[in-house]
Amino acid sequence: MSTEAEFRHEVREFLESLPSLLVDADDPLERARIYLRARFDAGLGALDYPTGHGGRDLPREFVSAYRQEASGRVPGEAGFGIGISMCLPTIRDHGSHELRERFLRPGLRGDEIWCQLYSEPGAGSDLAGLATRAVRDGDEWIVNGQKVWTSGAVDADMGILLARTDPTVPKHRGISMLVLPMDQPGVEVRPLRQMTGVSHFNEVFMEDARIPAGWVVASEGDGWRLAVALLAYERSSLGAGGGRQPISTDRLIDLARERAVNTDPVLRQDLARLHSQASIVGWLNQRSGIHPSVTKLWRSRQGRLASGIAGRLAFPGGAAWDDGAEGGSWAYGILDSPAHSLGGGTDEIQRSTLGERVLGLPREPAVDRDIPFSDVRRN
Ligand SMILES: Cc1cc2nc3c(=O)[nH]c(=O)nc-3n(C[C@H](O)[C@H](O)[C@H](O)COP(=O)(O)OP(=O)(O)OC[C@H]3O[C@@H](n4cnc5c(N)ncnc54)[C@H](O)[C@@H]3O)c2cc1C
Repeated sequence: MSTEAEFRHEVREFLESLPSLLVDADDPLERARIYLRARFDAGLGALDYPTGHGGRDLPREFVSAYRQEASGRVPGEAGFGIGISMCLPTIRDHGSHELRERFLRPGLRGDEIWCQLYSEPGAGSDLAGLATRAVRDGDEWIVNGQKVWTSGAVDADMGILLARTDPTVPKHRGISMLVLPMDQPGVEVRPLRQMTGVSHFNEVFMEDARIPAGWVVASEGDGWRLAVALLAYERSSLGAGGGRQPISTDRLIDLARERAVNTDPVLRQDLARLHSQASIVGWLNQRSGIHPSVTKLWRSRQGRLASGIAGRLAFPGGAAWDDGAEGGSWAYGILDSPAHSLGGGTDEIQRSTLGERVLGLPREPAVDRDIPFSDVRRN
């Protein structure tokens, strides 16, 4: 194994080769794909994965070293983030040899895009109440049901699916995690238009969709444990700065100067708060063992504070949809900000999780936890 200094040198060499590969690519998804392929082929795409699956089996410090070197010098992961930060680590940790062989390399290399098929119209915060059914039929699973808010589903090749495989047991116990091939007649993806004007997420309808029998992660009925494991990866990634970005403090400081309000004491205090919060969340992320809901909550608070400041500073001109602002229109940044508190589980749910799992407070009362799912009354 190389030393950290040698490793950093290797990373810098790779980063220097990157701009020439990206020179003709404008589309964010295409840029991400080129970057991920080059990174994987250079042996830097699976640092903490086992060697058998294209990984290097390196300790955590090397992953941090890569992040430090690459910061600001590589394209975002765009639609690949869900696979790379959430689905693939879950398959690495819990999937069978068959699943690891089939999915890790193409996912890490940017050859396949993943989406997360968790939320349903009647199961968001109460995720264990999901009603999508998967029924075993010979060497396949047949899936029927509907998902919603599925980010990036239009581009996805694979979906990590939570489905109910046994309705006769209490709701947390009858769920399985499966891998759904998205490109098949039984899967219909309908984009949902958000108030930002963009269709970031989708509805996904499954009608007799098919999954090979062996594409269950871990084992049948073990889905809730895996759902929680994947959510921990999701929350850590969001808390560490993955996914949507808050409006940057530097942009807001420039705007305050432009509007000649940078001497306003209340505004200065808010900008200072924004700056200190960004530092705090950065330090929290360096601590090992921190509960992912802590950093997720900090990031969501950061996103809302930044957009609140932008709202006060940018308007009325900021209401113009194309206001010429560098880094995206102010209106877009402001309208996108509620998503910070919802995607990956709402702020209220993070607080309850911390209360119950970290502070040891009593569990939320639930009337349907111990009865068979098929006996639970639903609307
Ligand atoms: C940008 C974005 C991307 C997303 N991407 C995906 C994705 O790719 N895949 C996916 O599966 N889902 C995705 N989601 C869905 C997201 O996980 C859900 O929106 C979230 O879990 C909340 O569920 P819900 O929308 O059904 O709201 P509800 O669960 O109906 O909640 C409504 C309100 O009630 C509050 N509430 C509910 N239950 C409780 C409780 N027990 N205690 C206190 N308060 C409570 C909530 O905090 C919320 O404020 C995405 C959402 C957003 C905004």
